[in-house]
Amino acid sequence: MIAPTALFALDTLLTDEEREIRSTVRRVCDREIRPHVAGWFEAGELPARELARTLGSVGVLGMHLDGYGCAGMGAVAYGLACLELEAADSGLRSLVSVQGSLAMYAIWKYGSEEQKQEWLPAMAAGERIGCFGLTEPDFGSDPGGMRTTAKREGGDWVLNGTKLWITNGSVSDVAVVWARTDEGIRGFLVPAGTPGFTVNDVKHKISLRASVTSELVLDGVRLPADAMLPRARGLSGPLGCLNEARFGIVFGAMGAALDCLETAIAYASDREVFARPLSSYQLTQEKLADMALELGKGLLLAVHLGRLKEAGTLTPEQVSAGKLNNVREALEIARKCRTLLGASGITLEYPVIRHSVNLESVLTYEGTSEIHALVIGKALTGIPAFK
Ligand SMILES: Cc1cc2nc3c(=O)[nH]c(=O)nc-3n(C[C@H](O)[C@H](O)[C@H](O)COP(=O)(O)OP(=O)(O)OC[C@H]3O[C@@H](n4cnc5c(N)ncnc54)[C@H](O)[C@@H]3O)c2cc1C
Repeated sequence: MIAPTALFALDTLLTDEEREIRSTVRRVCDREIRPHVAGWFEAGELPARELARTLGSVGVLGMHLDGYGCAGMGAVAYGLACLELEAADSGLRSLVSVQGSLAMYAIWKYGSEEQKQEWLPAMAAGERIGCFGLTEPDFGSDPGGMRTTAKREGGDWVLNGTKLWITNGSVSDVAVVWARTDEGIRGFLVPAGTPGFTVNDVKHKISLRASVTSELVLDGVRLPADAMLPRARGLSGPLGCLNEARFGIVFGAMGAALDCLETAIAYASDREVFARPLSSYQLTQEKLADMALELGKGLLLAVHLGRLKEAGTLTPEQVSAGKLNNVREALEIARKCRTLLGASGITLEYPVIRHSVNLESVLTYEGTSEIHALVIGKALTGIPAFK
C-alpha cells in the first residue's frame, strides 16, 4: 500500500525546508488541534486566542511576508502549511488565512510604516488577531456596490455601514474595513472597542463551525486620519488581498480532501461487507483511484502555481483556476468518501462529513465557484460576463 500522495511522487517537487515546515505544522495539528477539533465543531466554538498564540509560536501567521516578525517563507511552504491546517479543519486554515493573507497582508502591502510597526509583529506572534471586512449583507460577489461609507469630518474619518460574514470578527483586535469615500474605496484600520463599532457573531452555522464568523456594525465610528491605509486605492486593494488568501485555499482544500481519502482508505480496509473487506471490491477501488487522481492533479496544480508565485508571474486568472478546480474536486472527494463510510460517515467520529460541510463554505468564500468560472471565461474569451 502507498499513500495517495506517493502515487504522484509529490515530495520530489519539494525542498527539504518545505518538507520540514510541513512536518512542523502537521505535528502542531496532531498535538493541539486534531484531538479537539470535532468537539469545537460540535459546540460551535473555537479557542481562537490560544490557537493564534500556538500558531504564532511556530511562525505560520503571515509566514509568507517579509520583516516585522514574519517568517518570509516561500509560497509553496505557505501553501503546505495551509494544507496541513485544512487537513485538520477548514476553520483553522480560515483563521490563519484571514490573519496572514487578508488582515496582515493588507497592512503589510498598503499600510504606513507606523501601522506596520504597530500591528504586524504582534499579529505574527498571535498576540493580536485581525479580520477583514469587505462583504456586506447585500454585496458579496459584487463588493464594488458596497454601502459602507467613510466621510471626512475635520481631520477625522467617520465610518457608517455593516459588514457581514467576517471571519475572526469578534475575536479580533483590529478590523481592516473597506469603505466608500469621495476618492473611491479605501481601507481603514478599526481597533476593537472603538466607540460605535460593535460585533455580533453569526449563529446557527452548519459549516465552518470551528471558526468565528461575525457581523461588524459601524455606527458613526470616528477614526483619526492615520487610520486609513495610505497605499490602497480602489477595489484593487481588497482584491489584491483576496488573491493572496485564495492561493492558500488552492493548497488548503487539497488538505481536507487528503484527510478524507486517508480516512476512507483506512475505513474501507477494516470494514467487512459480504464477508470481505470493502476495499477489495472493484467498485470501491474505482472510487479510490478516481479520488487519488483528482487529489494528485490538484496537488500538482497547487505546487505549480506556488512556483509561479515564487517567480512573481502568477496571475489572478491562474489563482481562480486553482481555487475553482481544487475546491470543487475536494468537495467531490469528501462526498464520495462519505459514501464509503456508510452510516458512520454522517457522524463526527470521523472527519469526513465535517470536511464536506466545511468545504461548502470554502466553495463560496474568497470568490464563489461561479465568479471564478467567470474570471476564467473572461480570460478565455475577452468578454466580461459578470453583469
Ligand atoms: C464562513 C464564511 C466566512 C467568510 N469570511 C469572510 C471574511 O472574512 N471577509 C469578507 O469580507 N467576507 C467573508 N465571507 C463572505 C464571502 O466572501 C461571500 O459570502 C461571497 O463572496 C459570496 O457572496 P454572497 O454570500 O453575498 O453571495 P452572492 O454574491 O449573493 O451570490 C449568490 C449566488 O449568486 C452567484 N452569482 C453572483 N454573481 C453572479 C453572476 N454575475 N453570474 C452568475 N452567478 C452569480 C454566486 O456565485 C452565488 O452562487 C465569508 C463567507 C462565509 C460563508
